[in-house]
Amino acid sequence: MQQKTNLPLSLYGLDPDTLVEVLALPKRFYGKQIFNWLVKGVFSFDQMTDLPKNERERLSALMPSAASSTIQTTETDESGATKMGIQLYDGKVVECVLLVDKKGRHTACLSSQVGCAMGCTFCRTGTMGLLRNLSTEEIIEQYIHLLKVSDEPITHIVYMGMGEPLANISAVTRSIRYFHQTDTFNLSLRRITISTCGVVPGILKLAEQKLPVKLAVSLVTADNLQRSRIMPVNRSWDTNALKKALIHFQRVGGKRFTFEYCMLSGTNTDEVNAKKLASYVKDLDVVVNLIPWNPAEGLPYTTPTEEEIDRFTSYLDHMHVNYTRRRSRGREINGACGQLAVPLNKGLEYELMLDEQDD
Ligand code: SF4
Repeated sequence: MQQKTNLPLSLYGLDPDTLVEVLALPKRFYGKQIFNWLVKGVFSFDQMTDLPKNERERLSALMPSAASSTIQTTETDESGATKMGIQLYDGKVVECVLLVDKKGRHTACLSSQVGCAMGCTFCRTGTMGLLRNLSTEEIIEQYIHLLKVSDEPITHIVYMGMGEPLANISAVTRSIRYFHQTDTFNLSLRRITISTCGVVPGILKLAEQKLPVKLAVSLVTADNLQRSRIMPVNRSWDTNALKKALIHFQRVGGKRFTFEYCMLSGTNTDEVNAKKLASYVKDLDVVVNLIPWNPAEGLPYTTPTEEEIDRFTSYLDHMHVNYTRRRSRGREINGACGQLAVPLNKGLEYELMLDEQDD
């Protein structure tokens, strides 16, 4: 019998042949059977009823748990969001969210890291630093856990939970390929969005890959100095470098991106900021999503009033900027941008940037 120490922590992300190998299965087709059960969200070998009883018992003894576990589910609020706390193998916790929009589309918002090294000053996760990257299987499992509380198939994924996905690009792209496989969820790549604060090497790497996912870039301000103060990532890759990378990203595969403009009262909502934004986007094929900042304890910002937002949008109208105005979902359960606090972990940043016009 195989030693437990040689076993992976999770069976997710493994193909049927690899399952045969790691579980020392006596028949090859058992690998495909287990693969199918995992896709259905069945973690327990006891429940894999098409396996022989003695094999189920052997596997249960070998590997009692094939996945991470849910430690908390916050029920759906009026916006249609359900937040889940997931305990990982080492006891750390991440959160993921199921969102249901007004068109009835079900979207999984997934985390890619425990914590984050990017330090964006408007984000709670930015205050905790990076604890570690998530593995491919830990990313996949968030989706599986959310499926169990969803009344419909989850057709969209946004990598906008805790962490910077492009700082963990290998695990993120592997998980995307898994979700896209016809024998798993067959999710359209066009329904998958990666959010980034502007990690230029990651954007260039993504451009090289044949993965036509959408990119949501957190811009916050087009003023270079101000952006460096608000988002430390800008000190490594400034707004010029970011723009060049995005133009390349779009040219290489016609891949779409949006700018996310987190509105911070009295900080990036005046006419000067509007002018800089208009000038920055004028030669780009991009939509700017305006997202009012969600209050998060201990951070030095406030949410703009409706009047302040109206004033800013009237500047943008005047300058012919292509924008949308968004409402954050999940505010009532602390599951909106910058609010996904995980008590055991301190915090989780989450940005909802569903493209309302896109199926
Ligand atoms: S906004 Fe995103 S990239 Fe920035 S600190 Fe928060 S989780 Fe990290």
